[in-house]
Amino acid sequence: MTSIAHRPKVSLVVPCYNEEPAIPHLRRELTALADALVNQHGCECEILLVDDGSRDRTWEHIRAFTADDARVRGARLSRNFGHQAALTCGYDLASGDVIICLDADLQDPPNVVPEMIAKWRAGADVVYAIRKARQGETAFKLFTASLFYKLIRKLSAADIRENSGDFRLMSRRSLDALNRLRERQRFIRGMVGWVGYRTDEVHYERLERVAGVTKYPFRKMLLLAADAIVSFSRFPLKLAYWCAFSLSGLFLAYLLVSLVRYFAFNTQMVPGWPSLIATIIAFGAANLLCVGLLGEYVGRIYEEIKQRPIYLLQEVVSRPGDAPPGNPGSPGIPGNSGEPRP
Ligand code: UDP
Ligand code: MG
Repeated sequence: MTSIAHRPKVSLVVPCYNEEPAIPHLRRELTALADALVNQHGCECEILLVDDGSRDRTWEHIRAFTADDARVRGARLSRNFGHQAALTCGYDLASGDVIICLDADLQDPPNVVPEMIAKWRAGADVVYAIRKARQGETAFKLFTASLFYKLIRKLSAADIRENSGDFRLMSRRSLDALNRLRERQRFIRGMVGWVGYRTDEVHYERLERVAGVTKYPFRKMLLLAADAIVSFSRFPLKLAYWCAFSLSGLFLAYLLVSLVRYFAFNTQMVPGWPSLIATIIAFGAANLLCVGLLGEYVGRIYEEIKQRPIYLLQEVVSRPGDAPPGNPGSPGIPGNSGEPRP
């Protein structure tokens, strides 16, 4: 970015949960990366480790790291809030011009970071790191991940990249925008897509976890997928319409066939049956339609209650010498950013 002075500050944000076996490797790699960024790429560097309520000695390791290296800061959550919340905390605390988040298990290789920074220098606000291959991941995880991305892309209007995890670079302005979305159920990948701005991507091979085991068991993955679908799509609320139309269509057809058989072919029918079925169809359909209608309102209330800003400005142009106008997207509404930042 041209407006940033010579030495932009890079914040490396790493959420850690029970990562004791991985921390020595992480520490070595992060130190090497920070040295390279400072010495070879003309950047300042800050490392932010967020301990998401670990029960092992992760925090002791983080504290030791902060004592040895002035560039390192550690933050500890009061309990395990989950990866997305830990990442949010890191994003709130990061002070860099460029913010990059990595996994503690080194599955996101640090050697891609300089390439991401080069894309940012070329003008991108968000640089996604897209996985080319995923070593050491089960066929089941690959299949469910691919199914999930297809589904969420179909159901949602937000630009959610397939094969991009949370390994990404964000510019200061895109992160400031993201930090204004204070919704509780956070699916950050989708929120980044919603924020917009200029995006670019780099490609990398996803490595195996350096040590320890995954902290994303199937149950947590399902919860994240549910958050993603419910936060970014109102389709589930519209299911009532689909049920109303398809079920009542089906039963109306059945009723019609029965009536034709009765009148045209004189087939015997229990007295009162057609009127009974017709009543059931009418009430059933009316019920489902009303539920769908309620869903429409509940959906809109849900969108409103999230208090996301209505829009975000990308750029303001004015004549040289004129004061640039303020951002009408945030007209000083109290609570626009949700809860106060720590
Ligand atoms: N993580 C976290 N809180 C959690 C679960 C995971 O902070 O409740 C961190 C974890 O320490 C790691 C990152 O999120 O740095 C990704 O987790 P993991 O590597 O276990 O997920 P996977 O790569 O297997 O999907
Ligand atoms: Mg991992």
